[in-house]
Amino acid sequence: MNAHVNPQIADPVSSGNEISREKLEEIFEDIRSHAVYDHEIHGCLNCGICTATCPSAHYYDYSPREIIQLVWTENLEGIYDAMQEKIWACAQCYTCAARCPFENSPGGLVMIMREVAIKHEMESAKEVLRPFSRVLLKVVSTGNQLAPNMITKEAFPDWGPNVAKVDAPLMILRKAIPMPTMHTLDTAWEVNLRTSVELYTIWEATGVLDQLEAVDENLFDVVQDVMDEKREEWEEWLEEQDDDEDDDDA
Ligand code: SF4
Ligand code: SF4
Repeated sequence: MNAHVNPQIADPVSSGNEISREKLEEIFEDIRSHAVYDHEIHGCLNCGICTATCPSAHYYDYSPREIIQLVWTENLEGIYDAMQEKIWACAQCYTCAARCPFENSPGGLVMIMREVAIKHEMESAKEVLRPFSRVLLKVVSTGNQLAPNMITKEAFPDWGPNVAKVDAPLMILRKAIPMPTMHTLDTAWEVNLRTSVELYTIWEATGVLDQLEAVDENLFDVVQDVMDEKREEWEEWLEEQDDDEDDDDA
């Protein structure tokens, strides 16, 4: 059964189970108490300028004006329904924030709602994030996502005839870049091991890994293994440096 929604404000798309009032209030409170909530919403004229300039509104059944209105009018059912699908249509380009006469940021508000959807382990979050598990794993294990040798005619047939232009001597071109960290085709650039390990610490401290565990436990386990390996490599490297220093002192 759909949650009840004020038809003048929301246009629900979900067909989920009935949800308790307490749960709806808990979700709304998580949105409103977010550290940047007051920065993202200051009222709303309902003028629609954000929607008129929003690229996602052009292609999807999505409207930043609707999202802001749902939150501003505290339409708890509508907020919950929007979190089932609509909030995942935002491209996070922030054109809306640049245009809004009230200095609202519908895109920023959507980001808060996505965090809350993940916190509450909503099925919509799991479904949206599932196709990105390989991307996340690549970022965790190499420090970045795309690599030059991934861009081939076969991998991107939808790019049309211009993709043939990437048939260039990529390694020679890469070697011409002054930064040695880019003299590779396996990753976009080589990431320092220490940087990777520091990033893992940040992800742990900021709750990013807890969020990952909430939406994809299997991926979380794989990521943990990669992190453990990298941390061991880093410890071994530090020990080698200590040994070298001892040898120099001897
Ligand atoms: S968020 Fe801003 S631009 Fe969008 S409808 Fe409200 S006041 Fe207008
Ligand atoms: S940030 Fe999202 S809501 Fe704002 S204009 Fe871009 S796609 Fe639309």
